[in-house]
Amino acid sequence: MLTFDRALANPLRASVMYPPDRRLFRPFAVAARVADLLAAVGPRAGLYAHVPFCETKCTYCDYETVPLGKYAGAGVEAYVQALCTELRTTLAALPRATTITGFDIGGGTPGAMSAEQFLRVIDTLGAARLAAGFEISTETTPTLAAADPPKWAAIRRAGVSRVSMGVQTDDEALLGRMNRAQDKSDRMRRGIDALRDAGFAIVNLDLMFALPGLTAERFIESVDFAIALAPDVITIYDTVYKNRGIATQARRWDLTPSPKDYGDQYDRAFLRLNAAGYRGRYGSVNFSRVPGRLGTSRYLESRILDGADYAGVGLYASSLAGNVWRFGKKSYGAWIEHAARGDLAAEDVYALPKAHVMAKYLLLALSYGYVDGARFQARFAERFSDRFARARSFAIDRGLLQQHGDDYTIVPGAFADLPGLRALFYPDDALPWLEVPL
Ligand code: SF4
Repeated sequence: MLTFDRALANPLRASVMYPPDRRLFRPFAVAARVADLLAAVGPRAGLYAHVPFCETKCTYCDYETVPLGKYAGAGVEAYVQALCTELRTTLAALPRATTITGFDIGGGTPGAMSAEQFLRVIDTLGAARLAAGFEISTETTPTLAAADPPKWAAIRRAGVSRVSMGVQTDDEALLGRMNRAQDKSDRMRRGIDALRDAGFAIVNLDLMFALPGLTAERFIESVDFAIALAPDVITIYDTVYKNRGIATQARRWDLTPSPKDYGDQYDRAFLRLNAAGYRGRYGSVNFSRVPGRLGTSRYLESRILDGADYAGVGLYASSLAGNVWRFGKKSYGAWIEHAARGDLAAEDVYALPKAHVMAKYLLLALSYGYVDGARFQARFAERFSDRFARARSFAIDRGLLQQHGDDYTIVPGAFADLPGLRALFYPDDALPWLEVPL
């Protein structure tokens, strides 16, 4: 299939993030009342709160962030107050019958909040309407984790049960080039100790691979470093996960990892992590040694594996209700102004054709290494194998996917071909974007 080869020729376009370019969705932009969109949310939904403060801006980062140094103290407090107001207004607008599967407090760097601020955000959620297995998950940098161990114990007591710490690599020269020089390996060690001592049920550590200039040997040293820190879960993101930010960085350094580079690095890490007791399905980016858990948050699992609706609060947070994708206000000042007065405002709303929602769903599901046929059918009311008959046959013949009844897993060794596999699920109007350089 031509699509497969086109995607491999421009792999940064065919990342796990869909759409390949937001301009693809312009024709689907609509005007809508946010309260009406929230009223249409399904019976089970995830909840996300965005905390945009970061100590520095990492060179590869595409997320909506603001400098912590500029807002520390009164600025963070004003944000937290507005966030609680927006959360209260959002919960009031959801259908009464909707239960919340999980709550992610992400960013940015939520660890920039005090324990008392965490508690206030969590208290705003309340105890009603929580689904069975509900949990709260958050994130931190090594520097913020190491700086104040008692704070993390208090955040645990406030009800957060899972925490993720972004390490990315222990190569300090590379960290410096990524504008993360503050996260020295000693802080990574002390940060993990602080999180473990705080008693979180799951402590995750993030690494990135195929970074421009990172060799396979050096990446495996980072994997060994992470294993030695003994978190419960290790997540390894390939650089094409991050799409535009990595493309910018690769250009700046004149170094672009090839699909073969990241396939090789993934394959080596897969073997190393499984041998060390971190179990993960081939193709998945998550490796867990927690029995019965994939290692990701309940929020993310319901959003990605079930394709469930989710509601986001905070600066430029995204939400999905059915086939309608929405983003909150993008300008910091505009967001604060609307959120603080309980006004649910949107920057962009897209009413997406089903084919695009399916593509978003499948690309993210593949980051767990598989497509669950029953979940796909429950979400879209049609069978994966019927809807994608041609793509499915091509992927099986080409040795990319294996069929197990209604489910499909990625064939070991096929990681390097993932950009091509992902693009097989693109609707026709997305295909021209494979040719457009990032
Ligand atoms: S810490 Fe995370 S959110 Fe903040 S700039 Fe770096 S990658 Fe982006």
